[in-house]
Amino acid sequence: MFNKILIANRGEIAVRVLRACKELGIQTVAVYSSADKNAMHVKLADESVCIGPASSLKSYLNIPAIISACEVSGADAVHPGYGFLSENFGFVEKLEAHGIKFIGPKSEHIKMMGDKILAKESANNLGLPIIPGSPGEISNTKEGLEVASTLGYPIIIKASSGGGGRGMIKVFKEEDLDESLKKASTEAEKSFNDKRVYIEKYLQNPKHIEIQVIGDEYNNIVHLGERDCSMQRRNQKLIEETPSVIIDDKKRDEICSLTINSLKTMGYCNAGTVEYLYENGNFYFMEMNTRLQVEHPVSEEIYNFDLVKEQIKIAAKYKLSTDQDTLKSNGHSIECRINAEDPDSFIPSPGIITNYHAPSGPGVRVDSNCYSGLEISPYYDSLIAKLIVYDKDRVSCIQRLKRALDEFVIDGIKTTIPFFQQIINQKDFEDGSYDINWLENYKKNN
Ligand code: ADP
Repeated sequence: MFNKILIANRGEIAVRVLRACKELGIQTVAVYSSADKNAMHVKLADESVCIGPASSLKSYLNIPAIISACEVSGADAVHPGYGFLSENFGFVEKLEAHGIKFIGPKSEHIKMMGDKILAKESANNLGLPIIPGSPGEISNTKEGLEVASTLGYPIIIKASSGGGGRGMIKVFKEEDLDESLKKASTEAEKSFNDKRVYIEKYLQNPKHIEIQVIGDEYNNIVHLGERDCSMQRRNQKLIEETPSVIIDDKKRDEICSLTINSLKTMGYCNAGTVEYLYENGNFYFMEMNTRLQVEHPVSEEIYNFDLVKEQIKIAAKYKLSTDQDTLKSNGHSIECRINAEDPDSFIPSPGIITNYHAPSGPGVRVDSNCYSGLEISPYYDSLIAKLIVYDKDRVSCIQRLKRALDEFVIDGIKTTIPFFQQIINQKDFEDGSYDINWLENYKKNN
């Protein structure tokens, strides 16, 4: 087992990983920017190293500074959390060159899945159902027009290196294609330093259903069922739940077996999530995230399985501690991503938390880096807490979520708590009959 793990992240996920390390009896090293010197992950770690100024480019994305922090502290492994360097295969290669273990998949798989064009092509070759679209990059309008007319409008133009819900443009009619392609490519170049774009059929009312997997270095791999992440704003997830009301046992078995078999063929190891859109009973591969995801706790709750501890053990060459027949899910779990944002406009609301009280009691888990007196800085993502509730079924889980949201006190800044209080009382949420466009439509009418 590792002696010391450096956590190359901040916020709630750094705290989440720290907790797993501590429970495994492993020493921890936090890294932080000067804006984060009072952060919870710094306070909780055994050691901490400042890696640069507030700007992420100069701190949490600064590979040489993170490698020096490993060397100075003597860390033998790095957990990247999500975001920042978690899907940067160059980082993995540099760590390996320094004899430091990366807690995550192989760099070749990170590279393959990080390029959405290549990822789709690989998924297709592995036999996964993909969203109909261009066979690869669209390099000019003529090609775009041909593909789009075969698919039929609407279509969506996506950046091959896009992420975080950015780099996508919907096109509803032929006249708009030329301009949209140029815009998509220019924006992709600016935001992701990669101008390549591709075209997909735009599915009009799908659900976002994703499959959590974890595998070891001996080609044993299991799934932890699906998560329904269809409650989205601007293609970004706000509420996630498992199981999904629209996936029955047969459908779950089918898509999970297909996913696992494909990943076995690839030789995939460590944690990952395969994301699908689901419409009219069919799954369509969208992308794969080769890392831990924000919403991993809901799967942990219903499977009673710690994904982060397992990631660490797998990286230390342990065999998977379970198998598919042993893994059994129970009950229902829902997560709300609580952001430091105005609940109506979603405009970030940085500032000092003057009073903080997290809900607790049966079936309530809060993954957060907050405390009274903490300053939420404007430099980073506005996610400040994840409220995760668990109960024996969906109806009681929603009741529990309501009571937990009512207990949550975060003063001094605006948060999205009132937004969730409103949404979970809507009939469509109660029925589970919401798709990826539900929230945008709701916002238009309310
Ligand atoms: P990112 O990596 O930025 O998260 P994804 O490819 O995972 O991008 O897509 C994010 C979201 O965008 C999806 O959950 C879905 O809401 C929407 N989306 C992506 N592709 C399509 C499509 N072909 N049709 C309809 N919606 C899509």
